[in-house]
Amino acid sequence: MYEIMTPGPTAVAENVRMARSRECTNPDLDPQFYEFYRDTCRMFSELVRTENETLILGGEGILGLEAACASLTEAGDRVLVLDNGVFGKGFQDFVSMYGGDAVLYTTDYRKPIDPAALQTYLEQDSDFKYATVVHCDTPSGMCNDVAAICPLLKSYGILTVVDSVSAMFGEQMDADDFQIDVLLGGSQKAISAPPGLTLVTLSQDARSAMKNRKTPIASFYANLLTFEDYYENQWFPYTMPVSDICGLRAALENIRREPDIVARHQKIAARVRRALTSCGLKLYQEDGFCGTVTVFEVPKPAQAADILDKMKTEHNILIAGSFDVMAGQVIRIGHMGENCREEKVRRTLAALDRVLADLGVLMKGRTAEIF
Ligand SMILES: *Cc1c(COP(=O)(O)O)cnc(C)c1O
Repeated sequence: MYEIMTPGPTAVAENVRMARSRECTNPDLDPQFYEFYRDTCRMFSELVRTENETLILGGEGILGLEAACASLTEAGDRVLVLDNGVFGKGFQDFVSMYGGDAVLYTTDYRKPIDPAALQTYLEQDSDFKYATVVHCDTPSGMCNDVAAICPLLKSYGILTVVDSVSAMFGEQMDADDFQIDVLLGGSQKAISAPPGLTLVTLSQDARSAMKNRKTPIASFYANLLTFEDYYENQWFPYTMPVSDICGLRAALENIRREPDIVARHQKIAARVRRALTSCGLKLYQEDGFCGTVTVFEVPKPAQAADILDKMKTEHNILIAGSFDVMAGQVIRIGHMGENCREEKVRRTLAALDRVLADLGVLMKGRTAEIF
């Protein structure tokens, strides 16, 4: 087995794996399962500090992104797509797929979105049904200040859709204080459950926008209204993945037992950045660093593919390159959830030191020692 130090999927704790091996029930007919599902949803709402209802959907994080856009977008709706990273820009595809008019607000990929500049933009044009914001844009590690951005958008009457799949629990999330209408999470990042589930919270405003559409939602699986009154009616729109949800529940209980989980991420992330930069490596970002992932430029004369391959074959550790416009340029170390542990990160850095030395990179020290 490889050690997976990637920005998702992440390592899964033993009690989460054990929970997944529990006896299965028929989730459609077993009244106890409806209780279990609703309690798990409520636990998530509490952990991200919202009064809004959570839904757990069978399908990885991307399903949540698509479901939010499918459920909100009607033909011709203008949607503001905040783009300072690959996932940020990617929202335009979901918006246009469902007939919306995606308006990109593109800024420097090495810097977080500046709320003051966004405000200047909104003063000129704020006629948007909703806006999409990525909390941590994982391919570049960019963390956006959703605490400032979302209240600003709401003050212009714009609904806020936030992809915090790779940020939540490594970055502070106070969904109600931040005025997030649709918050999206996935099981396989800092939650550290296996891939397979999306978590979505829905505000009253978001729900009303979905209910007051003139045209029907052009999807079944990605229609968030199909879960309406599931508890009262004891009826799920499709068969719930029981074992995945048992695992998720155990993972959320682990998080609840650790009130300082965000601080653990922030500390480790700061130490990783300091270790890499003190040894002469260059971080991709100028600012907006995230607690869950560190992204650095491929140092000369090494190639990204060789670094990843040697880490894998010689040290049994998977770290990640990147994709889309970032492909080949950067290396990403994930330190989220169960991977955000001192020993694991130190092992990864020690391996990286050897790999970079083998590839002829001149370093100013050993990252594992400085860490
Ligand atoms: C991982 C991730 C997702 C979900 O992608 P999946 O492949 O479905 O897990 C969505 N947004 C961001 C920012 C992510 O990092």
